[in-house]
Amino acid sequence: MSVVLPGATLGVLGGGQLGRMFVHAAQTMGYFTAVLDPDADSPAGRVSHHHIHTDYTDVDGLARLAGLADAVTTEFENVPAPSLAHLATARPVSPGADAVAIAQDRIREKSHFVRCGVECAPYAVIETDEQLAAVADELLPGILKTARLGYDGKGQRRVATRAELQAAWHDAGDVPCVLEQLLPLDFECSVIVARGEDGQMVNFPVQRNLHRDGILAVTEVHPHNMPESTARRAVAAARSIADGLAYVGVLCVEFFVLGDGRLVVNEMAPRPHNSGHWTVDASDVSQFELQVRTLAGLPLNPPRQHSVAIMLNLLGDLWFVDGETPQEPRWADVLALPGTHLHLYGKTEARRGRKMGHLNITGDGIETVRSTADFAAALLG
Ligand code: ADP
Ligand code: MG
Repeated sequence: MSVVLPGATLGVLGGGQLGRMFVHAAQTMGYFTAVLDPDADSPAGRVSHHHIHTDYTDVDGLARLAGLADAVTTEFENVPAPSLAHLATARPVSPGADAVAIAQDRIREKSHFVRCGVECAPYAVIETDEQLAAVADELLPGILKTARLGYDGKGQRRVATRAELQAAWHDAGDVPCVLEQLLPLDFECSVIVARGEDGQMVNFPVQRNLHRDGILAVTEVHPHNMPESTARRAVAAARSIADGLAYVGVLCVEFFVLGDGRLVVNEMAPRPHNSGHWTVDASDVSQFELQVRTLAGLPLNPPRQHSVAIMLNLLGDLWFVDGETPQEPRWADVLALPGTHLHLYGKTEARRGRKMGHLNITGDGIETVRSTADFAAALLG
């Protein structure tokens, strides 16, 4: 692969917050940027040199992107894989359409995990009434997840009985689903790797994640955030999953850790991830810089975490008192706390459950950072 040097233009399909942070990283390194997103007011489109607002499948829009950009990546998991394949006929594209297509479909994703020898939750594929009827009793209670298009807990329903399962599948429109056994989670974690076309791979330290209502709420990264053997196994599993895809780009793999210490893979995202946002303020190289480097064919240096970090997601709920009366969060008070770094995505409308930004808190020791995070949460809550 030829190297795309600063001064060239990097393109991204998708204009959300991940694209915005990719654009920031690319511009810092001297690249021009082009974003394709149907929303004229997208977070990334607003900060990019070029913004093409067409649909992801618009042939003319894709041609304009290929005309502007010397290499193209994606920030949006549900970008149609055929659009990536189409762009790849004209420009280097990473991650590739094949890897993205696997990550977009829970059925194919789980088969890939199994192929790589990484344990996932016991599950059944449900695409037909026969498969629905044949579900094993052990999978209940479980979580029914649509195979495609789910995010932030959307497209999922907990089911305790066969009757509930049947109703949930029909409510989902009888679309392909997986039913997963509901597992007793001790905690959740994720690993972000970056892999170059030559197979070189680097990774960030394992991130410990807390979800609320199916949405990531808090990420903690410090040397003792989980048993060392768990961290080691998670890194090895993430690397084998990336290698198995011959992946090029930044990949996040999410895991469950069970009460008995077992590590179970949950899902992967073929792009930088919300649980890696801490890397912008607490690591010498961020996940977005690594996305730029993998896309441009530049060397990948192993990241070095220089500060302990906690990331708090800022959902639209914080813009309302008691879920109703509008309020502006107390940014000045929060920013008076030591080690706080505010990231807002420039979204104009706050809605419940919508990711508006995040707050990174950095420091030397986890106790101090944790108490600052508690203060910040109390000020915002
Ligand atoms: P999404 O694509 O919306 O992130 P996930 O499959 O990651 O969907 O599920 C969201 C969250 O729901 C997980 O982070 C976890 O907290 C919970 N969850 C999902 N699957 C299971 C399971 N099999 N057992 C227990 N909790 C689960
Ligand atoms: Mg998830």
